[in-house]
Amino acid sequence: MGKVTLVGAGPGDPGLLTVKGRQAILDAEVVVYDRLVGPEILALMPANAEKIDVGKKSNCHPVPQWRINEILLEKAQEGKNVVRLKGGDCFLFGRGGEELELLEQHNIPFEVVPGVTSALSVPAYAGIPVTHRDFTSSVHIITGHAKQNGQLNLDFEALVRHRGTLVFLMSVSSTPMILSGLMQAGMAEDMPAAMIERGTLPTQRKLVATVGTLSRRMQEEHITSPAILVVGAVCALSDSFDWFSRTPLHGITVAVTRPKNRAGTLTDKLRALGAHVISYPCIETKTIWPNMPVVEALASIDQYSWLVLTSPTGVETLIQLLDAADMDMRNLAHMKLAVIGSATAKALKAHGLRADYIPAIYDSVHLAEGLVRLVGEGDRVLLLRAAQGSAELPMQLGEACIPFDDVPIYETLYYNENSADMAQALSAGEIDYVTFTSASTVRGFVSSLPEGTDVSGFRALCIGAMTEQAAKSAGMQTITATSATIDAMLSRLLEEQQL
Ligand code: SAH
Repeated sequence: MGKVTLVGAGPGDPGLLTVKGRQAILDAEVVVYDRLVGPEILALMPANAEKIDVGKKSNCHPVPQWRINEILLEKAQEGKNVVRLKGGDCFLFGRGGEELELLEQHNIPFEVVPGVTSALSVPAYAGIPVTHRDFTSSVHIITGHAKQNGQLNLDFEALVRHRGTLVFLMSVSSTPMILSGLMQAGMAEDMPAAMIERGTLPTQRKLVATVGTLSRRMQEEHITSPAILVVGAVCALSDSFDWFSRTPLHGITVAVTRPKNRAGTLTDKLRALGAHVISYPCIETKTIWPNMPVVEALASIDQYSWLVLTSPTGVETLIQLLDAADMDMRNLAHMKLAVIGSATAKALKAHGLRADYIPAIYDSVHLAEGLVRLVGEGDRVLLLRAAQGSAELPMQLGEACIPFDDVPIYETLYYNENSADMAQALSAGEIDYVTFTSASTVRGFVSSLPEGTDVSGFRALCIGAMTEQAAKSAGMQTITATSATIDAMLSRLLEEQQL
């Protein structure tokens, strides 16, 4: 029999998903999710899981609640491991209870993974501790959702009498009514009040005012949902405790172009510094298969004495191809191994092989020079590399009359499915920096975008001189790291922001 796990996804910052919630998503066969769950968390869903978007917009429920309840039941009855992913905590104004009732009636097993609720975390990201011994000893969480007739069913006298901090969810349109209700019930006009929009996200905005002035300020600033209203003396602490907007890259949007499997550290480090990171991998590699030249080269592997690999992808592809040919590493034992740089050497080492030659400068010119020096009488060289590999290597080997075979084993594709959104964000000036960790990421970025997209409106953060050159010739403004590492790129970015 299947099972349903209700998972609270937290308020928006992907780091606020719980460890248990994350594991439940990774293990899911079906994920039923809401509008307030962010893209980074949705990206955890297994590729082969069935994904059902029941996103609710206010006043327009694309999938009604009774139908959501049925979907959960049906999928569990099919024997599936179902995750119901909800914004914030699942039971706080999340209708989690209603979803469990039908499951309970049909004896479907269920579990609940509570989430970090926006009611407490969003004030925290705005520098507001919801209780504080000097100000208040209770906090009340209230829905500001009005009834069909537009009325609020709230006991304002009771709320004022308790003197606690008041946190209103779903209250953007009803805020004026709430604030005047509180004042009519005796709350002082100058009681501090705050409104926080898109809390915990890099685009968070906050307004701190008073019960008497907040409605007007909200209108001026065009605050929209999701937002939270906080009323109480603790709101006065907001400016001194505002750690979130003081993070060094707060308010800065950075697009990261590294391939998905290599983007991890850079993205995490940028996020930790407060940047809004848009992940935009635009290079994909695809093994060329079936591939007669490879089959032939592997069949006659004994005639080669040097094997040359020019990227970690090349190493991984070689391992796959050996397996496909019913071979393994032992078939390479008679050859010397030359690689283009330390990353390729590291990839080989992960498979237990040491590189015999790495040039001092990691590029194809220096690799070719080294080979020409080392290759001796009777040697034959096998190049296994990208279809679009540089012409330098074959040219220099040819000039030196060294016998070699240049066999493409993978293709590089320049593509991102969200390129139209990226082009629009670029033309709206919403991107401050784009990171480039190789000249090919520059090529990938430009080729993935619709032709004629203007790339001069952001700064290209480049890992080194070759990358900078590629970015400049594509028409970008550049800043460049002083050494070719991710940390040096981050330092360069921080330095630029401090200027
Ligand atoms: N179960 C959720 C609340 C669902 S009701 C929780 O525990 O957080 C939806 C309301 O939550 C929104 O109208 C808004 O008031 C609030 N909310 C959710 N995420 C928010 C965010 N990132 N910033 C501000 N308010 C948020």
